[in-house]
Amino acid sequence: MMTIEQFIDRRLEQQQEAAEFALQLEHDFRDSGREIEYQWVRLVRPKHSRTAPSAVFVPGVLTPKQTLRHVAVLRLIFGEHAPDEHHRCSVCRDSGSSGDHDTTAWPCPTVREMAALWSDHRDYRAEWAIDRR
Ligand SMILES: [Zn+2]
Repeated sequence: MMTIEQFIDRRLEQQQEAAEFALQLEHDFRDSGREIEYQWVRLVRPKHSRTAPSAVFVPGVLTPKQTLRHVAVLRLIFGEHAPDEHHRCSVCRDSGSSGDHDTTAWPCPTVREMAALWSDHRDYRAEWAIDRR
């Protein structure tokens, strides 16, 4: 069974591969004199809503370069929250415990939230979710 580290590593790897592939396509397009334009998606207010704006534009997808920057930031954060030799997060501290120096058990909430980015993936395990009760 896949660990949360393997799961996150694999998702980041896949995103990076897809972004690098798309970036190569972008270069190929430009080299052949064509341009790629990333479209924003127009969302229109439902008829029954009076408060929502009539139309808003949201990014449909991240551009490949944006995706690579996202992946780099996620890798940085993931690396900072690596488990120590006691299988505790090397950054996070448990709040509300007797001392404020108690490290958090691995995987810490930051890593769990990161994994939840892909909670609809078939390899995501419900036990990684943060208990919000
Ligand atoms: Zn942490």
